[in-house]
Amino acid sequence: LTRLYAPLTSLAGARVEVMSALVSFERVFEVLDLKPLIEEKPDAAPVPDGPVAVEFDDVRFAYPAADKVSLASLEEVAALDTRGGDEVLHGVSFRAEPGQTVALVGSSGAGKSTIAQLLPRLYDADEGTVRIGGVDVRDLSAASMRATLGMVTQDGHLFHESIRDNLLLARPGASEDELWDVLRRARLDDLVHSLPDGLDTVVGERGYRLSGGERQRMTIARLLLARQRVVILDEATAHLDNTSEAAVQEALGEALADRTAVVIAHRLSTVRSADLILVVEAGRIVERGTHEELLALDGRYAELYRTQFAKGTDGTAGAQTADTA
Ligand code: ADP
Ligand code: MG
Repeated sequence: LTRLYAPLTSLAGARVEVMSALVSFERVFEVLDLKPLIEEKPDAAPVPDGPVAVEFDDVRFAYPAADKVSLASLEEVAALDTRGGDEVLHGVSFRAEPGQTVALVGSSGAGKSTIAQLLPRLYDADEGTVRIGGVDVRDLSAASMRATLGMVTQDGHLFHESIRDNLLLARPGASEDELWDVLRRARLDDLVHSLPDGLDTVVGERGYRLSGGERQRMTIARLLLARQRVVILDEATAHLDNTSEAAVQEALGEALADRTAVVIAHRLSTVRSADLILVVEAGRIVERGTHEELLALDGRYAELYRTQFAKGTDGTAGAQTADTA
């Protein structure tokens, strides 16, 4: 069986293989190698060609019990109760048609990131089915999943490698022009130009330390370069300041236009333009519809809109659009 995720702690020894295994997945938590590794079936199939739908069919999920603790020591892990933890998704169903953008909104802890993580199989559903292109993700090959799915999370993960290599992970063989093009679209070109080693600047812990926003833009540049058909954005612009945010949103908007996307959004502008908005509450989808439909419903979304988006938890969201509702 081919492992979909290799232990990160062996990075030093087998970096190249691990890096290629992780291209578009951001599961690089320190606890990675202590979690069950999701394995590919021997007869795994590729994701069907063309635009693909993404579908959750009555999905139930509980994090493995071991994930609940911070895993201070191996002894602690060994002592853990191995039964599953409390269920956090209680029958989630939705469908993003090919090319559509579905936005997940809801308060913190509602289960949005958990939903996102089931798509690239960072975890598997306990009950129900997650499908990409009509195929159960458990039946898809790891290589074709990586080629199909791109994910940007809140804390953009970069490898301790040059900026060039970090980008090339997304599309080996990309030309110098293509690299600069995505850097420009992610508003990173000025920064990279200003670095003495330019594209060859090594980033990360022992290299050049990018700010949270710069890291996030770097992973967005990688996403723009990768051109995967399905994109998952989990608060992908959370660390950006207002100036770069608008520009990066525009680049992301272009990137999402012809892809199927599941977007966990903290900005009203992203939510408003989604084809479908799902309001997630305590592990369930409690409302679904377009921005206008949900405002007219005057339920949970309307409340969220007033308290979270219109006011703007991030200081910008909705401030300029709230009055048009
Ligand atoms: P959201 O993204 O909407 O803020 P999450 O999907 O992160 O919500 O969390 C949903 C629930 O699952 C919360 O109760 C959270 O505490 C729990 N949870 C999230 N991640 C883990 C984890 N790795 N292990 C155990 N429980 C988790
Ligand atoms: Mg989250």
